[in-house]
Amino acid sequence: MATITAGIATSHIPAMGAAFDLGKTREDYWKPVFDGYEWVKKWITDEKPDVVILCYNDHTSSMMLDIVPTFAIGFAEEFKPADEGWGARQVPIVPGFPELAGHITEQLIIDEFDITIMNDIDVDHGLTVPLSLVFGKVDAWPVRVIPIAFNTTQFSTPSGNRCFSLGEAIADAVESFPQDLNVQIWGTGGMSHQLLGHRAGLINPEFDNAFLDRIADYPSELRKITRLEYIQKAGTEGIELIMWLAMRGALGEKVEEL
Ligand code: FE
Repeated sequence: MATITAGIATSHIPAMGAAFDLGKTREDYWKPVFDGYEWVKKWITDEKPDVVILCYNDHTSSMMLDIVPTFAIGFAEEFKPADEGWGARQVPIVPGFPELAGHITEQLIIDEFDITIMNDIDVDHGLTVPLSLVFGKVDAWPVRVIPIAFNTTQFSTPSGNRCFSLGEAIADAVESFPQDLNVQIWGTGGMSHQLLGHRAGLINPEFDNAFLDRIADYPSELRKITRLEYIQKAGTEGIELIMWLAMRGALGEKVEEL
């Protein structure tokens, strides 16, 4: 049977992807942040997941504002890195897992999560930057990936509580898949940040640290954060933390924080 064995939460900021692609990771400015990923890079080589369910958001790279699904799942055999305006990242094509994606979709629909099916989607930095941060420079990604895209770009976005419940439903779906698979779930997105308007540049370390202090052992407190509170306290883009809550919801009640 397939089992979710671990979760990862990480930023997916495109600047890190650019630093990675341009070979700047050892430069003074970037070294501290990339050094922070050395531990997880070692850890994942022992864990050897078969599949990563990767909760991210598209930044109007592949999903323009003509259609904005609240939740969407990637069904394709593979996903190409998206051209976000300066050419696609030169990283491997991301292999998909249509059979497991189909099973999860069926179970989610039964569980009353009306998830959109993406048969063809290019994946942007929200998905490929975390893969680079965790697996480094590779000729081929060592896992199959099921992208799950969340709407964080246009109001009305889903609540963190709803995303947590989606994570729980994803975990139930994975556990009823008959193939033996080591599955991880990742939640990617920035903590507090705002890109536009008079508060551009906002970050809120108090909010972020309080979130980090609670994600492992007290996630029920984080479920109560409203969408308005994310905007007020974490900036307009801080809503990306809802993907972290989906990841956390899939891990069950007790987790060991490594
Ligand atoms: Fe983002």
